[in-house]
Amino acid sequence: MTKPIVHKDVVIIGAGMAGLTAALYAGRMNLDVLVLENGIIGGQIANATDIENFPGFISVSGSELIGTLQKQAEKFGAVVDEFDSIVKVSLRENPKIVETEEKIYQTDAVIIASGMNRRKLPLPEEKKFASRGVHYCEFCDGFMYQDKIIAVMGGGNAAVDAANFLTKYGKKIYLIHRSEFRADEVSQRRIRQNPKIEIMLQTEIKALHGDKKLESIDILDKKSGELKNLAVDGIFVNIGVEPNTALFKDELKLSPSGRIIAGEDCRTEIDGVFAAGDVREKEIRQLTTAASDGTTAALLAEKYISRLKETI
Ligand SMILES: Cc1cc2nc3c(=O)[nH]c(=O)nc-3n(C[C@H](O)[C@H](O)[C@H](O)COP(=O)(O)OP(=O)(O)OC[C@H]3O[C@@H](n4cnc5c(N)ncnc54)[C@H](O)[C@@H]3O)c2cc1C
Repeated sequence: MTKPIVHKDVVIIGAGMAGLTAALYAGRMNLDVLVLENGIIGGQIANATDIENFPGFISVSGSELIGTLQKQAEKFGAVVDEFDSIVKVSLRENPKIVETEEKIYQTDAVIIASGMNRRKLPLPEEKKFASRGVHYCEFCDGFMYQDKIIAVMGGGNAAVDAANFLTKYGKKIYLIHRSEFRADEVSQRRIRQNPKIEIMLQTEIKALHGDKKLESIDILDKKSGELKNLAVDGIFVNIGVEPNTALFKDELKLSPSGRIIAGEDCRTEIDGVFAAGDVREKEIRQLTTAASDGTTAALLAEKYISRLKETI
């Protein structure tokens, strides 16, 4: 069966903070906007419980913030489709092509706002224990570990902050990292002063054990070579992130960390293709910077489309 061909002014890839902000702005400029989402609407922040650094809110949950933003974007005509996955993009053509399982979209501009995911625990048992002891989001799953023993894996700021956060719930937190800390001094000082946290550097997690749920882990002390078993109820993995750029790797320049190279104006090397939010190579990745990128990308996409229409 041939797929129907549908024209859009702008296709936005990803319905996180960056993508939905772009959709709100683009919709409000009367552009015909489609947002394609292949995971959870809201992306990384969808399940966060207490966001305390988004301007205008003392505290807000991810679902409330994103739910309102989605309604705002839809109010101005943006369509968010979370059931149709992209199979291929051709960004150098005009119009650009975004092919999904069901349709072929021809579009004047593309805003890539596909964000990133956390890197998975590199052990074969990961699948068996995923969400049954192995977790990636302390804000989402930490509450499951009231008075339990928790391990946090990683040595950067995200891991250190996760360990601190999890002291809300756990009775004991091990912070396990295979080399030295990469976290900043202030964060390191905070965890060293926290009596619930035990820091285990130069230590590697080698195996996970448990029947239906995680019960213990094997850890290797890299200095002494000693392998021992440690009882833990849950592990929160914080060993880096993977930008969602596999779809674009043959079309766009990626940075060494796998993000899309684009300036503060979100313009990529291809006219009419913009990168917004955490998927763009930049130093600060926050909700506010994602919203800022979404704004910039949409406003400049509109300029690009207007110029394109003038030349036809
Ligand atoms: C647990 C946690 C807590 C955080 N807390 C805060 C906080 O309190 N304050 C703060 O400022 N920042 C916080 N951050 C950072 C903040 O969430 C991110 O900077 C921000 O959400 C990035 O938004 P984004 O839209 O760029 O990307 P994402 O949120 O990553 O959204 C990208 C979206 O694109 C989708 N996608 C990916 N590939 C495709 C594809 N091929 N097709 C269609 N869709 C696709 C994904 O499913 C996802 O929904 C937190 C991050 C995490 C993980």
